[in-house]
Amino acid sequence: MKVSEKFIIIQKNIENACKNSGRNPEDVHVVAVTKYVSIERAEEAVEAGLIHLGENRDEELLSKQEVLQDKPLWHFIGSLQSRKVKNIIDKVSYIHSLDRLSLAKEIHKRADKPVSCFVQVNVSGEDSKHGLSPQEVKGFIVSLKDFTNINVVGLMTMAPHTDDEPFLRTCFRQLKTIQEEINALNLPYAPCTELSMGMSNDYMIAIEEGATFIRIGTALVGND
Ligand SMILES: *Cc1c(COP(=O)(O)O)cnc(C)c1O
Repeated sequence: MKVSEKFIIIQKNIENACKNSGRNPEDVHVVAVTKYVSIERAEEAVEAGLIHLGENRDEELLSKQEVLQDKPLWHFIGSLQSRKVKNIIDKVSYIHSLDRLSLAKEIHKRADKPVSCFVQVNVSGEDSKHGLSPQEVKGFIVSLKDFTNINVVGLMTMAPHTDDEPFLRTCFRQLKTIQEEINALNLPYAPCTELSMGMSNDYMIAIEEGATFIRIGTALVGND
């Protein structure tokens, strides 16, 4: 299926999820995750009207960006090694995987203006997932005060791969609760208004629970 056709289906689903939860579809941004697919497929996504593209490897991001240039806004979505920060720092609009102080330090050092970052939280507690535990988030964000090149725009999570809808809802709701707590602190460097959550198999649930950025690979740019 063409990306444009898949995008139409996803937009319909976004509308439905927003209707179910009394939200405005304009508040939900789709990040097309192109990490599995070719440059041609990523180009197709841009032509279909996608503004946000996500990659989780520096080499892939740079080679796709060379072709697509600055037409899309680039999101770094995967776990990020500190030594790779310098390769991507002035190429991306958002980093979704801030999860430790050493990484914050490196971003602050390498950036020449504030970078929009999501703090990654491991709400489900699965060992395989990166991110801070819910209990650590507030202390971590407070400790970012002196890193003036970091702007915490929101929180990000990867839910477990499961069909257990109530469990997924609990995970997303938990992230929303923490987001509201951080937002209420009124820290100038951490407005924390955004929620990056929801992937191909759970984005409708994530939207119903407040997602503002959904990160979709397979269902949007997958080669089926
Ligand atoms: C791969 C990936 C996605 C997209 O996954 P799909 O299930 O293909 O939609 C979203 N977020 C992150 C962090 C990823 O690594």
